[in-house]
Amino acid sequence: MVSRNPEIAHLQANYLFVEIGARKKGLLAKNPKADLINLGIGDTTEPIPAVIVEALTKKTKQLGSSTEYTGYGKAIGIQKLREGIAQKMYKNSISADDIFISDGAKPDLGRLQILFGRHSTLAVQDPSYPVYIATSVMTGKTKGYNSDSGQYDAIVYMPCKPENSFCPNLEQLPRTDLIYICSPNNPTGAVLTHQQLKKLVHIAHKNRSLIIFDAAYAGFIRDPSLPRSIYEVEGAEEVAIEVSSFSKLAGFTGVRLGWSVVPRQLHFDDGSSVQQDWIQIVSTFFNSASNIAQAGGLAAISDEGLQQSQILCDYYLDNANILRDAIESAGYTCFGGDNAPYLWTDIKGEKSWELFDRLLHKAHLVTTPGAGFGPTGEGFLRLSAFGKRDQIVEAAQRLKNALSS
Ligand SMILES: *Cc1c(COP(=O)(O)O)cnc(C)c1O
Repeated sequence: MVSRNPEIAHLQANYLFVEIGARKKGLLAKNPKADLINLGIGDTTEPIPAVIVEALTKKTKQLGSSTEYTGYGKAIGIQKLREGIAQKMYKNSISADDIFISDGAKPDLGRLQILFGRHSTLAVQDPSYPVYIATSVMTGKTKGYNSDSGQYDAIVYMPCKPENSFCPNLEQLPRTDLIYICSPNNPTGAVLTHQQLKKLVHIAHKNRSLIIFDAAYAGFIRDPSLPRSIYEVEGAEEVAIEVSSFSKLAGFTGVRLGWSVVPRQLHFDDGSSVQQDWIQIVSTFFNSASNIAQAGGLAAISDEGLQQSQILCDYYLDNANILRDAIESAGYTCFGGDNAPYLWTDIKGEKSWELFDRLLHKAHLVTTPGAGFGPTGEGFLRLSAFGKRDQIVEAAQRLKNALSS
């Protein structure tokens, strides 16, 4: 038999959601009628706006017509969608030629890893979306693996907590090849300011690091002073790749559509073009996003599509408000939720798995323990604002009761 990729055995990335599933099952075995409400999901729950569904349907029908049928498209995506994203999402400050359509931000985060040498080092926010570390490790960036701690010398954790406003202390950051930044952040809900991004871009220039900026939640930013893209900072095109997605913006988590910006100005340390390699990777590992999804994407960036998507995101932000009121009235502090669909609750010194269990058993609520997102996540609980309003209202009441008692 073929030998296993040894790095996958080291990975604990799936541990969090596997463990949550197991504990949920444990409760249901004891109490099969428990009316569980899930505040743990990072998945949309509201239907896709009608104007987008119409476009998806129209494209699907065309595929059934002998005169309108089309097969393979360009691996990098249809030009009209690239141009539309450049115009609507970046006000043409980014060229359509630097935008690459994908089947979502997560698959692109995986494919991006193929760009970088095995000995690349990286810095991640702690807590963070587990995919950054998992994709690095699976592709062999595993220098200095320590089997006791399960950590790697190649990976620098940047603690993000209330004391530093959830922004990494960049002055103290050791140099790494890659710096992963997610803003608005999953799981903390924090959004970095212009000033903070400016500093980040400055450090990347100084250290000759490449930033991977995850903007999957940009559509939730309501404060007009907050940046929605790393490219709002001058000089970012020389040091940053941005991944983004229609998933959370327009309810495309199942449809699958996203994009990455890989500017032509990016170069490896041997002077070669990052974009050229990216085009080669995309053409090899990927054969373009679905033509149906891309037709939906075009509708999503129409004026009406964007307006409807904004209403969709507002719905989740209203959910976040309802949950925040409940948490605060029980005497707890929480962060995020105003420009992101996550609330990050300070649980006053309790262990996050302990509170998880308490809420599961006493209130029949499924949440996400902060410790699952990295060591600095201990002492916090993530609540997702994705969900149906009646369930969120009920969950808020249960939260309030459980946390007050
Ligand atoms: C949901 C999410 C994504 C989006 O993934 P898709 O593959 O586009 O669905 C990307 N990054 C973060 C941090 C996310 O939470």
